Amino acid sequence: MNEREQILYKHSTYVMPTYAPTLALVKGKGAWVWDVEDNRYLDFLSGIAVTNVGHCHPRHVKAIRKQAGTLMHVSNLFYNREQPELAHRLSDISLRGKCFFCNSGAEANEALIKLARLWGKPRGRHEIVTMANSFHGRTMATISATGQSKVQDGFAPLLEGFVQATFNDLDSVRAALSPRTAAVLVEAIQGEGGVRPATRAFMEGLRRLCDEQGILMLCDEVQCGMGRTGRWFGYEHFGIQPDAISLAKGLGGGFPIGAIVVRPSLSDVFQPGRHATTFGGTPLACAAARAVIDIIEDEGLRANAQLRGQQFMDRLKQLATRYAWIREVRGMGLMIGMELDRPAAGLQELLLEKGLLALATAHTVIRFLPPLNLRRSQVTKAVRMVDKACAAFNATSQGEKTA
Ligand SMILES: *Cc1c(COP(=O)(O)O)cnc(C)c1O
Repeated sequence: MNEREQILYKHSTYVMPTYAPTLALVKGKGAWVWDVEDNRYLDFLSGIAVTNVGHCHPRHVKAIRKQAGTLMHVSNLFYNREQPELAHRLSDISLRGKCFFCNSGAEANEALIKLARLWGKPRGRHEIVTMANSFHGRTMATISATGQSKVQDGFAPLLEGFVQATFNDLDSVRAALSPRTAAVLVEAIQGEGGVRPATRAFMEGLRRLCDEQGILMLCDEVQCGMGRTGRWFGYEHFGIQPDAISLAKGLGGGFPIGAIVVRPSLSDVFQPGRHATTFGGTPLACAAARAVIDIIEDEGLRANAQLRGQQFMDRLKQLATRYAWIREVRGMGLMIGMELDRPAAGLQELLLEKGLLALATAHTVIRFLPPLNLRRSQVTKAVRMVDKACAAFNATSQGEKTA
């Protein structure tokens, strides 16, 4: 057995098959990753919007090494140096209230859900309105919140208290409200749902509706946050502020950390004993996230995401004019989707063959999530790969058949 075969054998023998992985990756640098046979790939997936400052950014690695050799974990029974510093930074760039730290996107959304319930309790409100085609995680509460039956099938009974509305349809949200509604939870740009941005009218309308009803507007920024769209947070594109946000994915740049940030009036909803997690906000995780924020700020990566995103999207749109089966290219910053009129899995495979990592999502959409420090030359390389993959796809039966 060669090393790849060994990895695959052990994996299939000892790791539960919750995923169906393809490549065996062993090394990364910037926007590039290498597999176990030393083939190089341009990473336009970033561990699903996680490695936002690229692989092994020297400053990120240095911060983690330093903190790992100083103090890794002490529990939240003690103060540590790093957690309040990270909270200060996150609060300043977002809602100006307090933060709670956890370890993943699902856990961050659990915190939002529990916060909404606790806040709603004395008001007789507990229901949360969520959107069709949304994605909020894989725990029982977050699959109950998620608007996709494929993540819920087989796990009934789901958690009560979630009411579904249609994304970008304010009337459907209005119809879902009741005197029991505590909050509305929305992604500013649906990620797993197929890179679908909210409309300005919808986000403005939601804000107004929540104010009128005296309920909370919660934004799941797990995927679209941390500079991904060219701003710190997706909601900033719509000229509104939510009452609370959830973060994870890109926050630690590959080191696991999640968080929620709230507006000041919600800062003290959670009192001691009401919510907790052992690993939340360790000095190590917080040092990693602080380094990510510093890198994004100091290297101008929000502007870069906007610029490179525009370049890539323009080139994809040109390419789309040549193939009738490309229905739409859309996105914000470096969160970009290419929607086909047919299943996208075959095109994902061809992209991989040409050396580009991207992800088919929502059945018909190819999702591109490159690192925020992407270079112009890498955009050019990626476009060439997409071009070749599209030509190959077009030549296959998948590409030929009309929808
Ligand atoms: C990935 C994702 C989650 C879940 O995050 P995990 O870290 O996998 O639990 C939640 N919300 C959105 C919008 C996501 O993209």
